[in-house]
This record gives sequence, structure tokens and C-alpha cells, in this order.
Amino acid sequence: DVVVVGSLNMDLVVRTPRLPQPGETLTGHGFTTTAGGKGANQAVALARLGTATAMVGCVGDDDYGHALRDGLEREGIHCQGIRRCGEQPTGVAVIQVDDDSRNSIVVTPGSNGELTPADVEGCDALLASARLVICQLETPLATVRHALERARHHGCLTLLNAAPAMSLPRDLLALVDWLVVNESEAAALSGQTVTHPDEAARAVQCLRKAGCRQVLITLGAQGVVAAVDDRLHHYAARPVTAMDTTAAGDTFVGAFAAALSRGEGIEAAIRYGQAAAAIAVTRAGAQASIPRHDEILPPAHS
Ligand code: ADP
Repeated sequence: DVVVVGSLNMDLVVRTPRLPQPGETLTGHGFTTTAGGKGANQAVALARLGTATAMVGCVGDDDYGHALRDGLEREGIHCQGIRRCGEQPTGVAVIQVDDDSRNSIVVTPGSNGELTPADVEGCDALLASARLVICQLETPLATVRHALERARHHGCLTLLNAAPAMSLPRDLLALVDWLVVNESEAAALSGQTVTHPDEAARAVQCLRKAGCRQVLITLGAQGVVAAVDDRLHHYAARPVTAMDTTAAGDTFVGAFAAALSRGEGIEAAIRYGQAAAAIAVTRAGAQASIPRHDEILPPAHS
């Protein structure tokens, strides 16, 4: 039903009293390895929320690569499109989190950088039978472009989560049915400052002019701004006490896409995405924090 073409990373997380200075050695309070990568996180959200999901990606021929693929298989995700490459190690994110929950992160793409247009070509039958194809920007741009083009060729819808932040050529944006971005990504694409809902509304207009059919901007605890039926709307986030916002955006994207793929309208899909993301921010970790469908309660009113 849904194919995710994207990254798989192992997140190596150390907890530390404060972030170290250059040249400094600190004693941390703990270390965890958790499965992450924007593509894989979004695939897990889709699968946990009941969507038939296939992943196209590239892992290294190493322990992390095997563990990441096994993890996705245990979620019921179709993993034939995950290639094991011998040249590069599996992608990792080295993350330091301090006692005030501030973080600093270094991502080394590793094998994610080896995902080629030919890999997408090898999964053409998957794309041909999909309703929706989802990409992010943690894999080479040529591969993202090829996936969007093949999806369009087969008449399936495309969703681009243009993360991490970078500017993109107009002809690539024109291949996107649903663009989902956070504040900094919207700013990088539109060249405008995006911190408040009213600025996000202007950026939505600007990105629609650039050729994206539908644009959603996520604003963390400030919710989502989107144009629905050509009118701009602001959807407030669910009030929760956030303890770890890792994968908030990925959970939103996966849940939004899960709702769309079962035929829900855009407003219902946004609210479902927000409900799933609000749960994810109350829990630690990336894939570990993503809820299942039966945990998502309907809105209190209406
Ligand atoms: P990203 O992780 O890509 O930066 P955001 O921080 O914009 O994404 O979060 C995506 C969505 O997750 C938001 O639109 C919102 O619905 C939900 N969310 C994020 N942070 C919070 C929060 N503190 N409280 C409630 N919902 C949140």
C-alpha cells in the first residue's frame, strides 16, 4: 500500500550532565542504542498504525545493519527492498543529550548514501502497486528524484518529508503531492523565517506557488499549518508534557500517511498524525516511542 524510500540509522545515545566543550572528556550517565533514521521511523509508524508498508533502503553488512532490518521485519514491514552494501557501514547518529534535554547530534549517512536510482528501479514492481510513496532527504537527491518520478509514472501519490533542511530545485518540488516540513525545513525551502503560525501560513502559500500541491508545516507544540480546500488552517497540537521529541515529525508523517492511505480526508489525517505524535513525545527514543493504533484516542470533543 505505502512504500517508504529512505534512511535507516542506528542512534547511539549518551546521556551527559552537560554537552562537552571541544577537547573535554565528561563522564556520562548512560548509553543506549536505538533504531532510527527518518525513513525507517516513518515505516514503523505506518506499520504500527495498521498500514501494509514496504521499505526501500540500504544498510551496511554489519551488526547494526542486520539489527535494523530484523527490527523492521518484526514490525511486519516488507524488507525485500533493503539492500545490504559492503562498501559503507550502516548509517549512525551519535547523539548527546544533557540534563536539560538539549542535544547535539552527528549523523554519518554511511550506507544510506549508497542508495541509488538503480535500487529504486529494482523495486519498480513495489512502486507500481503502491498508493503512496514517501521520501525524505537522508538519501541521495538523485534517488529521491527517481523515486518520485517512478511513483508519478505509476500514478501513485507522492509525499516528501523534506528533512533535513535544505533548499530544493523547483522541478523536484513539482513532483510532490504532499510536502510535509517543520519550521526550519520550511524556512530553508521558502527562504522565509518560519517560527509562528502566521509566518507558516505565508510559507505554505509560497511553497504551493513553487509547485507543491499540498503543503503541511509542523510547528512542534504549536501544531500544524496547512491549506485545506484552498483555505489556510491552523491545527493546534494536543496538550501534553513532552519528555523526548525525537521522531515527533516522523510519527506525524507516518500517521498522517496511514490515515490518508485508508481513505481519510486531509483534516482527519492531520488530527490523527497529531494524536500519534503527541503520544510519541511523551516517550523516550525514536522507533521505541511510536504508538500503535489502539493507543490513539479520538479527540475529546466533536
Ligand atoms: P520535527 O520533529 O520534524 O521537528 P515537529 O517538532 O514540528 O516535527 O513535530 C511534529 C508534530 O508533532 C507537531 O505538529 C505536533 O502535532 C506534534 N508535537 C511535537 N511536539 C509536540 C509537543 N511538545 N506537544 C504536543 N505535540 C507535539
